[in-house]
Amino acid sequence: GRGSAAPPPRPISLVFSPHGISYAHLAPWASGHLVAEAALPLTALLHGRALEAHALWSAMAKPDPAGQAPQARWLTFQNFGGEPELTFSASPVSAAETLAHVVSACGGASRVGFEAAHVTVLEHERQRSAFGAGVSLVPRVGVVESGRRSKDDHEIALIERACSIADAALAEVAPMLADPPPGLTEAEVRNRLEMRMRELGASGPSYETIVATGPVNAALPHHRPTATVIERGHTVVIDVGALVDGYHSDMTRTFVVGEPSTRQREWYELVLAAQLAGLAAVRPGVTGAELDAACREVIAAAGMADLFVHGTGHGVGLLIHEDPYANRVSDAVLQVGDVVTVEPGVYRGDFGGIRIEDLVVVTSDGCRVLTTSPKDSPCPPSPPTT
Ligand code: ZN
Ligand code: ZN
Repeated sequence: GRGSAAPPPRPISLVFSPHGISYAHLAPWASGHLVAEAALPLTALLHGRALEAHALWSAMAKPDPAGQAPQARWLTFQNFGGEPELTFSASPVSAAETLAHVVSACGGASRVGFEAAHVTVLEHERQRSAFGAGVSLVPRVGVVESGRRSKDDHEIALIERACSIADAALAEVAPMLADPPPGLTEAEVRNRLEMRMRELGASGPSYETIVATGPVNAALPHHRPTATVIERGHTVVIDVGALVDGYHSDMTRTFVVGEPSTRQREWYELVLAAQLAGLAAVRPGVTGAELDAACREVIAAAGMADLFVHGTGHGVGLLIHEDPYANRVSDAVLQVGDVVTVEPGVYRGDFGGIRIEDLVVVTSDGCRVLTTSPKDSPCPPSPPTT
């Protein structure tokens, strides 16, 4: 049997981005649903670099809609300084049983955290029975989300590639808006953009591409493309991103079909000024609310505050919307490695809409803009020269 002096329980770690391992490598697993803790604060469990033993929970733990017990494997990181050696459990078993096994194999824990925003009631019951009465299950919120926030160089490179694919697709498709063929619809522009992104190496669009035109559709920030025909004199809002190795990009450009009216030009210049003010405000230490205010003040100064009907931005990574958010109430403090959008807009039902959105990475002295499509004018670009 066991000796009387049992070793103290060791902490069990969720590993997000330790040295030598990027989120991309972990992408299939990095949206873990459970965190085990040996009666320690959870913050001690998030950073793998200095730790020696690691267990990573599996995103395969996501319950399927049929209510079947999720399957999972667990893995251990060894040789932490170099290329990780991943040891998988021999065969998948239920996620709850797997975690209980991992916790036990690592010395046991009296409290196990679970992500309250993601675990279903049914899965929670399974966890209760797998761990037994000796372990208390503690609800936690935002553990994985906060661990994912700051991106490493490899992640930023993937996001940058996703941005450049969307940039290239837009550069090829947008010129047709200068003189649209008769009957060209929002949906057709979306189809062309999404096909080009796949051809350029994306695994797909980052989200359903928004193509919104005319006084009604373009006034809706999240309009889904329809058979509406793109007409001269209208604005066209195109919100497009690519997906590369699980990482998203996000960008919006607005064009005017034909010669812009005075009002279209003025509103475009206003949104652009607000967007540039937002970009200039991005740096470590600024809160999401301060970034939002930097854009909003420019639009408010023109007497159009009520036309900017959404927040200024959001984080982008393995999810298209993740921490940190930039809106009126966000107290998130920007930090180096955050990848966030800056996307002010104005919308009015008899006019349409204008939004300009870039994706940036926060650097030590400001930010670097990852999306490079031209935005100085609402006129569609000329075709790229090859
Ligand atoms: Zn967007
Ligand atoms: Zn966005």
